[in-house]
Amino acid sequence: MSRIHYTKPSITELEIRYATDAVTHGWGERCYEYIHRFENAFRSHLGVEHAIATSSCTGAMHMGLSALGVGRDDEVILGDTNWIASASAVTYLGAKPVFVDVLPDTWCVDPEKVEAAITPRTKAIIATHIYGNLCDMDALLAIGRKHGLPVIEDAAEAVGSQWKGRRAGSLGIFGVFSFHGTKTMTTGEGGMFVTRDTALYEKVLTLSNHGRARGQTKQFWPEMIGFKYKISNVQAAIGCAQVERIDELIAGKRRVFKAYEQALAGLPLRMNPEPEGTVNGFWMPSFVVDEGVPFDREALLQAFHEDEIDGRVFFWPLSMLPMFTSRPENIVSYGLYARASNLPTYHDISEAEIERVVRCVRAYIGRN
Ligand SMILES: *Cc1c(COP(=O)(O)O)cnc(C)c1O
Repeated sequence: MSRIHYTKPSITELEIRYATDAVTHGWGERCYEYIHRFENAFRSHLGVEHAIATSSCTGAMHMGLSALGVGRDDEVILGDTNWIASASAVTYLGAKPVFVDVLPDTWCVDPEKVEAAITPRTKAIIATHIYGNLCDMDALLAIGRKHGLPVIEDAAEAVGSQWKGRRAGSLGIFGVFSFHGTKTMTTGEGGMFVTRDTALYEKVLTLSNHGRARGQTKQFWPEMIGFKYKISNVQAAIGCAQVERIDELIAGKRRVFKAYEQALAGLPLRMNPEPEGTVNGFWMPSFVVDEGVPFDREALLQAFHEDEIDGRVFFWPLSMLPMFTSRPENIVSYGLYARASNLPTYHDISEAEIERVVRCVRAYIGRN
């Protein structure tokens, strides 16, 4: 029986050819060639003016928050159901992540809860498009405008997702992406900072180059302490191939989701939504069993394990983690994880493998 992995990248001859070219020839004056090409290709895919490739999404978020002036004792509001990376960057700057509840259908931050959490110390709102599902960007951007607060998009999981015809990551003051090996497109490790705001772009560009301004002709002369979150040319070469294949990569993720959706139809559960006016990139097919229906998550994960299926738990509320103050009043977040699970997804997962996963899930829902 073959192992069904949680996710894995789709690597073809094209990625191998570009990476081989980069490692063979991409040195000296050609050491940034693939990086610039990657940034340009991703920029045009997304429809934004500016992009800076980074070594991780976390680094892109760190620089973006820093450029917005987020600092000691400031507050940044984000959904409690989230990956730690969104919150870590906030803490690196001495600011405080404020975890608010999410919506029961999208699992993304609840705009009403965001507005209620705003204080004089609030510096920004982070909209994480969890598992490819879209935050209500109209509501969040309206709240941002009303209170003079920037809305940031953590689009690490949202390659392929669109809000009313605009790609996730292109709507906020800035967006960040991850190209970690588990994500829809990958460079092994890597990320991207994107923005339409030219002044913000210039700031992050300087920060990303150890604080050396673009026009500075004096060598080794940083004017501030910056960061070092650059991607390498070899990783960017892999990224160039992935962006060329991005429609195919997104279609692959959507195919897997649709197959699960069809096979699990009729069960008392919800999966990632795709409301009118949106496209979901379906990075991670997940389900949440309806309230009151017997479901033992640990038993399902054990059954997955015995069948060589790499299932994973749904995100815990971040406020449950030991380094934060718990917020059980976030009843949706605290009610979701125990009734939920991720399902394995990768571009070339077979129908038979999907069927194997589905058999397991069906056996463990509604069973005491
Ligand atoms: C993967 C992920 C990140 C972090 O990406 P890295 O490239 O590992 O830094 C950030 N936010 C979310 C929501 C993610 O899923």
